[in-house]
Amino acid sequence: MHGATNQPWRVAVVGAGPSAFYATEALFKALGDGVRVDMFDRLPVPYGLVRGGVAPDHQNIKGVVKVYEKIAANPGFRFFGNVKLGRDVQVADLADHYHQIVYAFGCESDQKLGLPHEDLDGVYAATDFVGWYNGHPDHRQHRFDLARARRVAIVGNGNVAMDVARVLLSSAERLAGTDIAEHALAVLRDNQAREVVLLGRRGPAQAAFSPKEIEEIAELPDTDVVVTPEEAALDPLSEQWLESAPRSQQRNVKFVHEQAERGEGEGSRKLRCRFKVAPVELRGPDGRLSGVRIQHMELVAGDDGTPRPKAIDRYEDLQVDLLFKAIGYKGLPVPGVPHEPKKGIVPNDAGRVLEQPGGAVVTGQYVVGWCKRGPTGLIGTNSPDAKATVEQMLADREGDRHLQPTRDDLGPLLHERGVFVVDWSDWQRLDAWEQKAGAERGQLRHKLPSIDEMLTVIRELRGR
Ligand code: NAP
Repeated sequence: MHGATNQPWRVAVVGAGPSAFYATEALFKALGDGVRVDMFDRLPVPYGLVRGGVAPDHQNIKGVVKVYEKIAANPGFRFFGNVKLGRDVQVADLADHYHQIVYAFGCESDQKLGLPHEDLDGVYAATDFVGWYNGHPDHRQHRFDLARARRVAIVGNGNVAMDVARVLLSSAERLAGTDIAEHALAVLRDNQAREVVLLGRRGPAQAAFSPKEIEEIAELPDTDVVVTPEEAALDPLSEQWLESAPRSQQRNVKFVHEQAERGEGEGSRKLRCRFKVAPVELRGPDGRLSGVRIQHMELVAGDDGTPRPKAIDRYEDLQVDLLFKAIGYKGLPVPGVPHEPKKGIVPNDAGRVLEQPGGAVVTGQYVVGWCKRGPTGLIGTNSPDAKATVEQMLADREGDRHLQPTRDDLGPLLHERGVFVVDWSDWQRLDAWEQKAGAERGQLRHKLPSIDEMLTVIRELRGR
């Protein structure tokens, strides 16, 4: 049993997205009122990608915050919003105040294609677009030239590509009543995109979208999902691979084949799913994207037998007005926290932080969510993932392998440093304010686009 038996066990969780809440929940379940969890976020608002990533027309998914609200209602929970690790507080400060630290800061950046001219006007990271339409303060400055877009390419066919395609193919009216950012809705009202071309480098059997997500696009009014019979067809390797692939992949293949049979359709909006193609050249002689050269691929078995794309000598030129890269998120280094640059994650052994990949365990430091395993999986994936890390934490607590804090409340230190800490009741007041301001505008929620504006309203609400 750990040495400090009479003191509550103190845990700092850095990040306030799904994996942070699931780790907190697992700690409360295991240790009851014997644990205090302080959750930190650099933003004044919680919920990570549920607020800033899940698309505004997916309110059913955003509804998961009800679960997080219940977790936050535990008397052992405190929120430290607007507190950034590496700026307002250092890892050494946390080690001075907590028995254990859990990193749950996700993957904040995007993968690059590595092609020349990736910085042309009209070439965007899907992650920026997602943050922008969701009112994330980091992304308010982006400009998306949707008024000049008729044909848009999206590289990658994961669920982020689906979200971007769906938003681009939706009418502004469909999005208007949601919690979409006001600045985004104004631009989307002029959106001219009528054709979205999805560039998947592998075949339909390996498509990264979930069946529900692609099916939802086919259900949009006046919209067809179009696939050519040639690209819908499976190669022998994929046929064989599909037999033992997850059911979702089989459902995707069935859907793609049905769409190929339907042909072009009558709708004025099209999602063209291309398979076994990847961009090799971005063109835009006057600094603005005007086209993309794509190269065809064939699939070959990788070391583990999984079909991998291999370029063949066949090219096509597509005229496109805009291109979104939806090829995944990437984790950034956080000061004082070990970082594995290639994978963009915190090196770890089943959730225990390591000094470097394969290196020694860093006592008392743990990781959950995307910064543990990389940017994969649905929101629910983070629950078992966080529980697995908490198992390690509990074992280390029992084994007396933990930090030796000398102080018990970080609040005074942050106060001394002049940090404006947003606590949970501040957030609850802002939450109510956002919903009321939204209702006045015919929306579910009105999000303030900058941290400064959020803090101003929080100050005002404190004064009432
Ligand atoms: P993802 O699912 O990993 O998809 C990335 C896509 O980019 C894949 O099609 C991948 O192809 C392709 N790609 C990667 N590198 C490429 C390159 N250099 N050139 C061309 N294509 C490339 O990632 P994501 O869409 O960012 O989503 C992240 C996670 O969040 C996923 O688990 C997703 O399911 C989840 N999510 C869920 C929802 C939802 O449920 N509604 C919404 C958004 C996100 P390969 O497969 O060949 O690597």
